[in-house]
Amino acid sequence: MALSPEHSTAALPMADLHVHQEPTPHLDRVLAQREGRPPYDWAAWRRRLVAEFPPGPERLAQVGTMRPVPLEVDADDELFVARVADVLSEHARSGGSYIEVRCGGDVVLRNGFMELFRRAERQVQVDFPALRAEPLAIVMPGAEPPSELAAKVDGCVRLAGEGLAGVDLMCFPYHSEADWTVAHRLAGRFADAGLGITAHAGELSTANIAAAAATPGLTRIGHGIHAIKDPALVDLLIDQDITLECALSCNVLFGVVQSLAEHPLVRFIDAGVKVTLATDDPVQVGTTIGAEYAAAASLGLTHNQLLGLTRNAIEAAFTTEQRRAELLAEIDAAAVSAAR
Ligand SMILES: [Zn+2]
Repeated sequence: MALSPEHSTAALPMADLHVHQEPTPHLDRVLAQREGRPPYDWAAWRRRLVAEFPPGPERLAQVGTMRPVPLEVDADDELFVARVADVLSEHARSGGSYIEVRCGGDVVLRNGFMELFRRAERQVQVDFPALRAEPLAIVMPGAEPPSELAAKVDGCVRLAGEGLAGVDLMCFPYHSEADWTVAHRLAGRFADAGLGITAHAGELSTANIAAAAATPGLTRIGHGIHAIKDPALVDLLIDQDITLECALSCNVLFGVVQSLAEHPLVRFIDAGVKVTLATDDPVQVGTTIGAEYAAAASLGLTHNQLLGLTRNAIEAAFTTEQRRAELLAEIDAAAVSAAR
């Protein structure tokens, strides 16, 4: 039975495997609250974005370009913890219980990164004890100078022992076929270190989906939605058991799909591709994980199908086996109570 969006997502375990850290948008929110001022007006930013930039690559290129506060304030450890806690508490407040946060730049290399991330997690767990969070590093072979890339790679391998959960690979050009040689070589090192591997691909076109799928150790793809245009790519995702991290509102805002109704999420499910829901850049996009599950419900997904998306997420999560077992048990409990 299809339920209304509100009903379907109430008390539904929700997970988000694809959230960017959005450093300055969260720092701005933290500082705005402390200073008693309104935060930056992202709704107005989105209106200008849609009015001024054509859908697709040009609009997508605007992600991260608006910095409401200077990134320098991030150097303060206490503010860093507060802005990570802001990401996690926003997720928990909207009903989420598992989140993976992707950190670009050299953020994972900062002193005590894992300790600070766990401090933020513990802070949010005071109000939301069910919340669990893991950090990922974004690595962009070819887009970072070789010496910085090498330092980043070494840092990720070292941090694997401290709890870094995984790596998100991005290769450029993003909307046409890139050379994945270096990414594949680095992925082997990451996989050997025990890091989970995902990659951004297939957000704007079918380009890079096959190359991403050929990445050693890769089990997930961020977006990958244009695979729906090529049955061979759909088969590849199924054969290799790759989970797609689907960001409905993000895809609609940046115009990589024409509308929510045109989003291939349901077609992937019907074809047997494993999918999950994601907010991607929640502050800039203006969404929450709760809103993403409601959007999926509005596409006709049943409560059980929504629960299946969370199960896919937890099965594909880059977390410890103990946390995975706990989270799967929570999904089982929710399934039983929904059946009553
Ligand atoms: Zn992304």
